[in-house]
Amino acid sequence: MLDINKIRADFPILSVKVNGKPLVYFDNGATSQKPQVVIDAIAKYYQEINANIHRGVHTLSQLATDAFEVSRGKIQQHINAKFPYEVIFTSGTTHSINAVANGFTSLLKAGDEVLVSALEHHSNIVPWQMLCERTGAILKVIPMNDQGELILSEYDNLLSNKTKIVTVNHISNALGTINPIKYMIEKAHQVGAAILIDGAQAVPHLKPNVQELDCDFYVFSGHKICGPTGTGILYGKEKWLRKLPPYQGGGEMIKEVTFEKTTYADLPHKFEAGTPNIAGGIVLGTAIDYMNEIGFENIAAYEHELLEYGTQKLLEIEGMKIFGTALEKTSVISFNIEGIHPYDIGTIIDNKGIAVRTGHHCAQPIMDFFKIPGTIRASFAFYNTKEEIDSMVDAIKKAKLMLL
Ligand SMILES: *Cc1c(COP(=O)(O)O)cnc(C)c1O
Repeated sequence: MLDINKIRADFPILSVKVNGKPLVYFDNGATSQKPQVVIDAIAKYYQEINANIHRGVHTLSQLATDAFEVSRGKIQQHINAKFPYEVIFTSGTTHSINAVANGFTSLLKAGDEVLVSALEHHSNIVPWQMLCERTGAILKVIPMNDQGELILSEYDNLLSNKTKIVTVNHISNALGTINPIKYMIEKAHQVGAAILIDGAQAVPHLKPNVQELDCDFYVFSGHKICGPTGTGILYGKEKWLRKLPPYQGGGEMIKEVTFEKTTYADLPHKFEAGTPNIAGGIVLGTAIDYMNEIGFENIAAYEHELLEYGTQKLLEIEGMKIFGTALEKTSVISFNIEGIHPYDIGTIIDNKGIAVRTGHHCAQPIMDFFKIPGTIRASFAFYNTKEEIDSMVDAIKKAKLMLL
């Protein structure tokens, strides 16, 4: 279905040599590579329409503003938000989560509860801990089982009328688990709690439908979906975005400023203080167009093949232990080899041009759960191949001979 050679030709970096060897890029969970159309669109913006937005009446400013708003519309359509002003441009998932957690300061009181899952990235833990410190609210953790799946009966038990917000990732970056968010959203709403979905690892693999999910917030980063770094999205339901105070003060986000009182601009500008990443925001739309042309169904089917193939190949290595064996998972394989530190394998195979992530993957509590310092994580994208998986497996076998 996918013409992989043609797709690979879209990504100039895939023909770069690293340490004298063809690059095998399996660190897609950390950031994706960028296709030529995205790289070109960045240059084109600066070459042809660069100007500040929403400010000048001059032609370039209007062209830049139009392009920025067209991109907002594309993202609205892509995630099926009801209104374009429910789509806020941010610098990334981290920024988006902080904006929401900060906004909840005025809505929580001591003794209220915030639920986070045991599977979260530090970005979706720390802002909530800070919120609890500010308000006296209590952070509770939805536990997981040995497969790396959330234990839903425990989730049900934790929910109560004290729960004010639940926060959970759609897909775990460390283990690849796809969480049953539809169920979790419904349950949170039954007790009157809001729910934020960290979609950073989901949007590279699927097209979320925020109205069907009925989540209150859905956040993601542009750089994991072929877009530029420093771009991200905060989707919020209109009623929540109206209720939350602005995150930052400054230009763009005001209606009227006097030294006595400032009134805030309407959505979405209330949450977009200062000059945004204009080029990045525009080009995020280009990246989403690119991925939609390939098609998320095709992407999911192909990546599933890579996941099955990679899992089977890796399990042929003696001493292999895979962490995260959920029934529902994406193309992420987190593993260790008995008696070898993940960092040693990572370093040796890097010499062969193979890029994997080693360490705790910004999810230390998950590593603590498994009582390990970290894992090796291979995360596949639609431009990876089975031959690349073979190269990685060969390299690991050789590394193992050197280390054991
Ligand atoms: C990458 C990631 C984040 C953080 O994204 P940034 O782009 O670094 O802000 C948060 N949550 C998950 C699940 C991620 O994978």
